[in-house]
Amino acid sequence: GFVAAAQANFMRVIVDSIGDSESGGKVGTQLLCVVRALLKKIRRRVLVGDRVLVGWVDWVDRRGMIEDVFERKTEVIDPPVANVDHFLVLFSVEQPKLEPFTLTRFLVEAESTGIPLTLVLNKCELANEETLSAWNNRLRTWGYEPMFCSVESKSGLAFLEDILKGRTTVVVGPSGVGKSSLINCLRSDQNTEEISDIYSEGVKWLGDQRVAEVSKRSGRGRHTTRHVSLLPLTGGGYLADTPGFSQPSLLKVTKKTLAETFPEIRQMLSACKPAKCSFSDCLHVGEPGCVLKGDWERYPYYLQLLDEIKIREQFQ
Ligand code: GDP
Repeated sequence: GFVAAAQANFMRVIVDSIGDSESGGKVGTQLLCVVRALLKKIRRRVLVGDRVLVGWVDWVDRRGMIEDVFERKTEVIDPPVANVDHFLVLFSVEQPKLEPFTLTRFLVEAESTGIPLTLVLNKCELANEETLSAWNNRLRTWGYEPMFCSVESKSGLAFLEDILKGRTTVVVGPSGVGKSSLINCLRSDQNTEEISDIYSEGVKWLGDQRVAEVSKRSGRGRHTTRHVSLLPLTGGGYLADTPGFSQPSLLKVTKKTLAETFPEIRQMLSACKPAKCSFSDCLHVGEPGCVLKGDWERYPYYLQLLDEIKIREQFQ
């Protein structure tokens, strides 16, 4: 099956095929599952988006145990989702106002995964044509082609649906920009039972005592565990709903890999022949033989993030 949601140690698995020995099972059934202790022992973490093997299935009460995890194509750590193939970086033009450094942090975080991203600006109906056009031009100089939409006035959404079709997309962005509104607008299962409150169902299943033990073992209780779920889209594909993950940690970015997360730097390096600085570990901060110039808009942001990462690396 496919792990559609997770909270604490409970997973909601949607069955997509059934073994020969199973009787009474149906494809599409949602099973509430725990993870086999052995998998945790060998540090095989199960993530939302994983394809898993489920055993010990009780088809009447819809319970099971995850026994194995199949190989994943990609793995995103923050938020924890497997097999993601697209990021949607969502910001609003107004309310809250688009803040270029914050946007840069989100872009750097998404770029560091190597997974393709689409930059979308929401709440367009609140801004005038000039403002939108100025943002469009400015973001193009950063190397992005932004899309504009308004969940409120429903503009730009059909085009967005097309881009999301068949992909597993994680929506990221600061709070208040319209992530939940957009997800609710695009998800196909508007009227079906809410799949997020897995924890309460787990308590009903195992009882308070055993759930507390399970939570203690994982080091997380309900209040420190954020839930993650994948919501099906009308045109096929999924959108990850990850409330609480609205601060990019940049933990995967090192001072060596930071430059690769800026399209401007990638572009400048590929325009140079030979496409490299004198030092192979050049950080582009004025070293002799550096081929990059400092005359681009986001260079100060690059330097600021580099300082932040250097400080973090000193303490690691
Ligand atoms: P999140 O924190 O990113 O999930 O943002 P929400 O989806 O909770 O939205 C924050 C606020 O923005 C809510 O009051 C929404 O109704 C509002 N909102 C969302 N999209 C739009 C839009 O396109 N235009 C306007 N004016 N408001 C919007």
